[in-house]
Amino acid sequence: MASLDPLAAHHLETRLVHQGSFRSEFGETSEALYLTQGHVYASAEQCERRFAGDEAGFIYARFSNPTVGMFESRMAALEGAEAARATATGMAAVTAALVGQLKAGDHVVAARALFGSCRYVIEEFLPRFGVSSTLVDGRDLAAWRAAIRPETKTLFLESPANPTLDLVDIRAVAEIAHAAGATLVVDNVFATPLFQKPLELGADCVVYSATKHIDGQGRCLGGVILASRDFIDRHIQTYLRQTGPAMSPFNAWVLLKSLETLPIRVERQTRTAGVLADALAGHPALERLIYPGRADHPQAELVRRQMSGGSNLIALSIRGGKPAAFRMLNALRLILISNNLGDAKSLITHPATTTHQRFKPEERAEMGIGDGLVRLSVGLEHADDLMADLRTALEAASG
Ligand SMILES: *Cc1c(COP(=O)(O)O)cnc(C)c1O
Repeated sequence: MASLDPLAAHHLETRLVHQGSFRSEFGETSEALYLTQGHVYASAEQCERRFAGDEAGFIYARFSNPTVGMFESRMAALEGAEAARATATGMAAVTAALVGQLKAGDHVVAARALFGSCRYVIEEFLPRFGVSSTLVDGRDLAAWRAAIRPETKTLFLESPANPTLDLVDIRAVAEIAHAAGATLVVDNVFATPLFQKPLELGADCVVYSATKHIDGQGRCLGGVILASRDFIDRHIQTYLRQTGPAMSPFNAWVLLKSLETLPIRVERQTRTAGVLADALAGHPALERLIYPGRADHPQAELVRRQMSGGSNLIALSIRGGKPAAFRMLNALRLILISNNLGDAKSLITHPATTTHQRFKPEERAEMGIGDGLVRLSVGLEHADDLMADLRTALEAASG
């Protein structure tokens, strides 16, 4: 199909600087921040046409906003999606992508290794409205197949999963979904839009917490839903417009500017993560090191097929359980203890006592989250400085 988009022939880096920009009469270089709730009309007739959808244009910031629209357009270019809708947070995007498709009596199948709040929505929230779910080991394709029921409407997964960095074969799970007449939603936060393209692998919808690498500097919350125009029109558009998890124009402006530097930030972070993972692998204080960019990742073959880079997250299993993991965290001087990720600052977290605290120890074990596991999000500091900090902290972990 011929594209009307003049930027479509350009490389991704170019589009991330220019895509979606529209200039006001003042010809500003940097995109304008339209911090407005609403818009005014030249006449009552024009207002009527806007509401009827007979004339394109803005109405109210819960529905759409020029700055949010620029961010959505740039995200769609990045993902290679027909349409994008921004939300206030990543969880608003996940919830909309699921609830927008579902009604009482429907069934969801999801990988059980998920971000804690995604599991809450599927396990605790949806059942209150008559939507049942089955959680499976995402790595086990037979388990996905066995969980499908006639009323299964959608499948949900995260790959690599938080915090264990296990992968799910997106192409295979998309085929299982489609054979059952269901859809597949992928939370692609850990891979980032640069290193994995779920829509190309057959997913119907991709969601992001833009809070993470997309902001990348720890400032704003945000979320994005990307899919075909038809999927957005059918499942997402009305849900967002009527229930209101809209992204603030201010946050959209920050995130839009962040997209200009996303490739250079994430590529550098990933390169540093690779250096650290290679230098730390086999360290005596570690039971295991899991990094999708290394040949010893348990699913290295799938990593090669599905991802074009390892991303900036490393999982470290510290010998000696929680006390040793805490000794390590407390001995770090440069790397900060924080549950966030994707930031310019390197951040480390202990999932068993934070993001996955609400689960029973057996449930955590099932997800592969041991008491010694820590998750490192590599930032933009120099690799040598990070390495020195990690070496000192791992010595402290050994006691
Ligand atoms: C952070 C995160 C979310 C939730 O995003 P928020 O912006 O905090 O609401 C969802 N999924 C994954 C994988 C995440 O890392």
